[in-house]
Order: sequence, then structure tokens, then C-alpha cells
Amino acid sequence: METILSRHWHHLPESEVIGLLETDLNHGLDLFAVEHRQARFGPNAITQRKGQGPLVRFLLEFHQPLIYILLAAASITAFLQEWVDSGVILGVVLVNAIIGFAQESKALKAIAALANAMTSEATVLRVGEKKRISATKLVPGDIVFLQSGDKVPADLRLLVCRELQTDESTLTGESVPIQKHAKTLRQDTVLAERRNMIYSSTLVTYGTATGVVIGTGDNTEIGRISELISSAEVLATPLTRKLAHFSGILLYVILGMAALTFVVGVVRGESWLQMFMAAVALAVGAIPEGLPAAVTITLAIGVGKMAKRNAIIRKLPAVETLGSTTVIGSDKTGTLTQNQMTVQEVFAGGKRFTVSGVGYAPEGEFACDTETVVPREHPALLECLRAGLLCNDSAVSQSDDGWQIAGDPTEAALIVSACKAGLSPATIKQALPRLDAIPFESQHQYMATLHHAGPDAPALVYLKGSVESVLQRCDNVFGDAGSGAELNSDSVHRRVGELASDGLRVLALARVELPAGTASIQHQDVASGLSFLGLQGMIDPPRPEAVDAVHACQSAGIRVKMITGDHAGTAAAIAAQIGLNGADPNGAAASVMTGKMLATLSDTELLDAAEQSAVFARVTPEQKLRLVKALQHRGHVVAMTGDGVNDAPALRQADIGVAMGIAGTEVAKEAADMVLTDDNFSSIEAAIEEGRGVFDNLIKFITWTLPTNIGEGLVILAAVFAGATLPIQPVQILWINMTTAVLLGLMLAFEPKEPGIMLRQPREPTSPILSATLIFRIVLVGVLLLVGAFGLFQWELSEGESEAAARTVAVNVFVFGELCYLFNCRSLTLSIFAIGVFSNRWLLAGVGTMAALQVAFTYVPAMNRAFDSEPIGITQWCLILGVGLSIYGIVGLEKWLRRRLTLRAEYRQTKPPVPPLPRRSV
Ligand code: ADP
Ligand code: MG
Repeated sequence: METILSRHWHHLPESEVIGLLETDLNHGLDLFAVEHRQARFGPNAITQRKGQGPLVRFLLEFHQPLIYILLAAASITAFLQEWVDSGVILGVVLVNAIIGFAQESKALKAIAALANAMTSEATVLRVGEKKRISATKLVPGDIVFLQSGDKVPADLRLLVCRELQTDESTLTGESVPIQKHAKTLRQDTVLAERRNMIYSSTLVTYGTATGVVIGTGDNTEIGRISELISSAEVLATPLTRKLAHFSGILLYVILGMAALTFVVGVVRGESWLQMFMAAVALAVGAIPEGLPAAVTITLAIGVGKMAKRNAIIRKLPAVETLGSTTVIGSDKTGTLTQNQMTVQEVFAGGKRFTVSGVGYAPEGEFACDTETVVPREHPALLECLRAGLLCNDSAVSQSDDGWQIAGDPTEAALIVSACKAGLSPATIKQALPRLDAIPFESQHQYMATLHHAGPDAPALVYLKGSVESVLQRCDNVFGDAGSGAELNSDSVHRRVGELASDGLRVLALARVELPAGTASIQHQDVASGLSFLGLQGMIDPPRPEAVDAVHACQSAGIRVKMITGDHAGTAAAIAAQIGLNGADPNGAAASVMTGKMLATLSDTELLDAAEQSAVFARVTPEQKLRLVKALQHRGHVVAMTGDGVNDAPALRQADIGVAMGIAGTEVAKEAADMVLTDDNFSSIEAAIEEGRGVFDNLIKFITWTLPTNIGEGLVILAAVFAGATLPIQPVQILWINMTTAVLLGLMLAFEPKEPGIMLRQPREPTSPILSATLIFRIVLVGVLLLVGAFGLFQWELSEGESEAAARTVAVNVFVFGELCYLFNCRSLTLSIFAIGVFSNRWLLAGVGTMAALQVAFTYVPAMNRAFDSEPIGITQWCLILGVGLSIYGIVGLEKWLRRRLTLRAEYRQTKPPVPPLPRRSV
């Protein structure tokens, strides 16, 4: 065991590998060995090597153009021995860095915690029993089972291998699937060529395998190179990139204006020191420094809200993109339906049987033409049920809270129907032990198992799958008298149509005998000559909440499309039950597009089909990808769900790839932007709703913050151009910007979603961040702040007050102006009374704190010294509040006028298109 980590495992024969690792292929490790090895090797997790330590991240807070300007200003003021100014500027820079650092660390931690919450599981053999455990608990020597869709949990030497292919791009960057085998290799085989080894974090894209763990945690290949992999999630989204670009341009504009201010002032004969301070004030005031942090924090809060509603965001940009989704392509089984399968009808031996009972409890009766029957008297029925029981990887068991299933609900339903007929899974599996299996893959649509029926008896193959895939392999029917009867495919398809139109999911079953001694089966062994056993139709009721969610999406201008591998009839019936067909906003009829039809379409025809149809059945994963591309070509923002390995390309292509947390494979989750912890369609709708709220709040913050910058810039410009004293000084500007951004602006991130948020049309992804309306409002408020601050400042001076007192008034005009305007910004369209005055308590608390701080700013001597402020009287306060309330009133009026205008426009649009009465023309 000591040297176990440095072996050439690929070069050792299987028996030696097993021996060295002191394990057993049929029994696995026992608990004592597991415990011992867990203590010795630690958990199977890679030690997080952080890309950036806290110190580096803190220093990076200073790595911003604005901060450079401030640092330059601080050193020059220090050089000029303006110690107070210099100290305050430095203090503000420091406080800014600390706040930014703390907030960003919190956001990063929250996002990392979510990513870690999605730990993967592994199927292992321990003490002779197969079980699912957390992948972190694996130890060297564990026997692990893998199938397509799994993420390899540790480094493994393969022992048994069935058509195994892996995607090793996480390790090598090369995404071509690699064919694996279990044969011993030469010692000098290089890592990339070791076909009998599979490595942690790579993905199984095809086939199944059994392997033994040879390395865990940091002792895996991926653990060794993990330093090279950037683990830190970047906090960048399309919006933050747009904003960064915008700030870059803004910076040059502002520097230019600052330089102009300086030159104009000096030319006019002002002292160059004063003009330098004016230029600094302008630069400091005009740059929206709180913006980047506010965006990150708002997005992080959105991620948290979505997680509470069962949608885990894996890639931060998704939070923002979700808000502009225009089409959702959703799976049917399990997402729109409950995935609670119960067989209700069985068709076998030319007869149609109904099965009673609910859920997975194996209690129910068979009836034919409303007469209860004894299943034992119907050999064809029994054989059909037995096939469902044997060609099956799932299990049903009774626990304290009812009947539980392990595995696929479709298969569990088949076990339950067999039990209702008195068949015992244990007895039958013992009588016909399984020798081999072809696992279910959605592109083949069937699964087959090979069974040993006795020493000289022929081997038996049972097969189950979609009607199309099973029937094409059959050439006769197994009736009450055994196999050999004539098969009428048309009548079977008619039966399937009947079952499907009731919304039943239909599985077809078949069997064939192979020569005695056959030990394994391939696809070609079951390609033809099978005996058709019958059909089992199972009900899978729609999720009631999905009905509401689909409706909500449609009112929100989002088209919902069902994209399923299931039968067209079943898909259409379920679509009708959840209101998918007729209610399509496009007015599309209940037409169902099948994969076969899609295959005949040209790329241009596909564009129309993708847009117009709401239901797509028997769709292959490749067609899913084509559909996503077609919809995107038409300018749609597409959210697409998926669970299988083959769905990964479509998930990656979609604007929002949505993977299923419960039924989804690791491969699908890895490719997705968002994972649903409950597999429920309504969680997508919830995430979109939250996404819209997040985007709203970002815009609200931007609309709120920019007027201050405009106002401050204009005040300085106006003063210098008019040759007047500066109404506000650089340190005062810093005070205003810092305190209001944190105490007022950030509180908008907690703004609850507006009523009617899901009654709007989706946001155009190409539209600019700010609409013309908002730009108008921003400039309006900026100018109002200028007028208020500059006006009151001059009035104060003319009244004979000191400069310090006049400045204190100007600063308070800015703060209280922004404070009142904050209430306007709680909604961009609605009045505060429509969204509830008290619905954002954070904001009210922030407003209270801000007002208290301003009182301190005005009256506390230490503050007076630091910020050059001075106590002011009651008249001044009245004037300040007057300006603030007028801003609130004017913006409120503007919003009211716009509401009236849009209402009237909508009214005009929704008027019935009756020809106008010829009143005027007479
Ligand atoms: P969906 O999940 O959209 O219903 P799938 O690709 O999972 O589509 O399944 C497609 C078809 O394959 C099903 O309609 C069914 O006939 C068949 N099928 C599904 N699961 C199994 C299984 N475990 N074994 C055999 N056939 C299956
Ligand atoms: Mg499925």
C-alpha cells in the first residue's frame, strides 16, 4: 500500500492491480479498509489553490484609473503641505478599497459556495453492495462503476469496459472522444495514450465501465496540474464589460474637461493651486466610482435569490441574460411532467388490459373489457411484464414514507406493473441471471439484456424501447401460444396512437433466443428477428405548477417549446394538458414536428419550423442543437434544457443552457449555465423572473447614480467658467459620492421585483443599457442638482454667510437631492405608492442613516474640521429640503406623464380593428 501512488498501473495486468490495491472485484473494499484509507489519503478533493490571495485582491482595488487620479491628488496636496486635504483623500481611497474588497469577497464566496454545493456522486462497490456515495469519499482500491454521462470521480485503472469513450478536454484541451479498453499496455506508453486508464474530472461520453481507483484528490492527474487551471470565477458579464468600456471613454472625457478647467482658470488669472484643486474636484465628482461594485453586488444578490428558488447559476452572465430570454426549449419528461410513472394499460397477446392502482405501490388489478382477470391465465401478458422486469436497471422498495424508487421512473413503473401481476423481481432475476446488457442511450431509444436460462437452454434476450425502434427489429409476435404469430405493424402503431393520445408514455417490449452459451450481446445481435411481446402505457401527469409557469411565460412574451424524445402523440396530449399549443403567442396551431420531419427540412425551412411549432417529438440531441441555432439565427435569446450526454452541445450553444440537477448527467451539468435542483420547469420561470428583477435593479442604480456625477461636474465647470469660488471641494465631493453610493444607491439592490414584471415583453438584448427616457431623466436631475446647489451657494454668499457655511448647504443639496430622487428610482415607471412605500426596508434604513450622517457632517466639530463644513440654520435646512422635494416632485411628474402617454398608446393599439365610423368625412 505504501508505494501505491507511483505505480505504472497501465502496465500491470488486472490481477496484479487488484492484488496491489488489496481489493476485490466482486466484493469491493470492506468498511475497515475504507476508513483506514480515508484517514491515510484524505478526502477525494483537490486542494483549492487560490489564483489570487486576499492581499493581491486588496491591492487590486487600487488598480483603477480613478484611484490613480486620487492618489496623485493626495501626493500633490501633501507636497503642497495641504495636510488635511491629503489625509482625507487618502482616507477615502482606503475606505473605498476596504468596502470594495469586503463586498467583492462576499460575492465571490457566495458564488463559490454555490459551485461547491454541487458535489458529484459515484457508484461504488463496497462490502459486496453497489451504492451511490459522494465522490469525495472515494479511496484508492474502490471499485467504481461508470456510465455515459458520468464525470470520472478519481483516477481509475479500467477493469471491465464496454464501448467506453471519454472526453478528456479538461485534462488535455482536446475534445475528441477517446476510445478506452481494459487491456494491459507497454510500460513506456505516454499518459495521453494510456487507453486502459481514465482520469478524474474527464467525462464519460459513451458506454459503461468498471474501474479501480488508483489515485484520489491531489494525487490525480488533474490534481497535479490544478495550479495551471484558473479556478476563480470571473465576475464579468456582458453588462459589466459594456460598463467598463463606457467608463474607459468617460475617463478620457473627464480628464480632458479637468484639464480644460485648469487651463481656463489659470488663463483667467486664478491661482494655479486653486485651479488644480478644481480640476481634481471635477475628475473626482464626474467619475461614477460606485458603479462596478454595485453591479457585482446586485448580480450576486440575484444569484442568491435564484438559488433559493431552485436555480443554481454556474456562470454569472446567465443572471443577466435570463432577464432577456425570449424562448424556452424544455424537456417534457420530468420537467413539464411529474416523472411519476404508473403503467395503466398493457397490450399483449392481442388483448388490451387495464391496470389499476396509483403511484409505485405494487397493489392493483388487471382487467380486460372491464372484467377483472387473473394474469397467470394470460401467458403473453405475463411474458410482456417479465420482459419489463428483467430489462431493467432500477429498483422499487418500501420504506417508512411509502414506496421509493431507485433509478429511472420509466423502469420503476415496469417493475410495479409486473409485481401487480404477482411476479417477484427477486425470484425471476435469480431464475434468469443477467449475462450482459446494452444500456439505454437516447439516440438508440432501446435497452436490451441477455439472460442465462439454464445449462443447455438457449440464451434469452429481452429488449424494451420506443415503439419505432422495437418494432423494426421484430418479425413475429409472441402470443399466448408462444412466438411465431404474424406481426401487423400497422395495427400496433394504431394501438400506440390510441394510448399516446391519452398522454400515456408507451414502451414496446420484445424478446429473442440466442444460441446457448452466448455470453455477450452487441447492437447487431438484436437488429432483427425478434418476437414482439407487447406495449405498456404509463401515465405521467403534468406538473400542476408547470401549467401556471407556462402561462406566466407566455404572458411575459416568452415562447415555450416542448422538445422531447417521446412519441408525437404523447407529446401532443401533454402539450394540450399544459396549455402549450393553442396558447402560443404566435398563434401556432397544435402541430407537432417530429424528428423525422425536421430531418427532411433545409436550413432555411428549419428557421420557420423552429419558430412556429411549439411541440417537437422524437427529437435527437443533434436536432436540439439545430433548433437552438435556428432560433438564435432569428434573434431569439434561447434557454434550453437537457439532461443527457448528447445534450451538452445544445446546452453550450444556448444562451442559457439549463441542466437537470436530479436526472441530469454530470456532462450536462458541466455544460450548463444554470442547474435546476428540482428539475422543474417552474424553476426556469422563477429564474427568469429574478433575472428581470436583477436587471431592473442594475438600471435603477445607474439611473440614480449618474445625475450626481453630472451635477458635480457641472457645478465645478460653472464655477470656474463664471469665475466664482468652488461651491464644493474635492474632499466634500468624495464624501458625497462615497456615503450616498453605499447608504443610498446600494439599497436599490434589495428592491423587490415590481408588480407585473412578468407581464412585460422581454428586453431586447441589443438595446442600449439606458433608454432615451432614462438619459433624459438623468440629465434633468443632474441639471436640477446644479441649479439647486449653485443657486443656494450663491444666495448664501449674497446673504453674507461664510464660504464654509455656503458649501455645507451645497453639499447638503446634493445629498438630500439624491436621497429624495432615490425614491423616484425605486421604480423606473411606477410611482412609489404602487410598489409600496415600506416594501424595501433596507432602503429606508439607509436613508435614515444617511440623514443622520449629514447632521453629523454639519454639526460635529471634528467633521467640520475634516470637511471644512460649518453648522447651518433652520432656514437653510428648509431650502435644502425644498430643493430635494422639488426634484422628487418634478421626476414624479415626468414619470406620471409618461405613464399616461404609454397607457394611451397601448389603448390605441389594443382597440379592436373595426373600421372607423365615417363621422368626419361627412
Ligand atoms: P424524453 O425524456 O424526452 O421522454 P428520452 O430520450 O429519454 O426522451 O426517451 C425517448 C424514448 O426512449 C422514450 O419515449 C421511450 O420510448 C424510450 N425510453 C426511455 N427510457 C427508456 C429506458 N430506460 N429503456 C428503454 N427505453 C426507454
Ligand atoms: Mg428522458
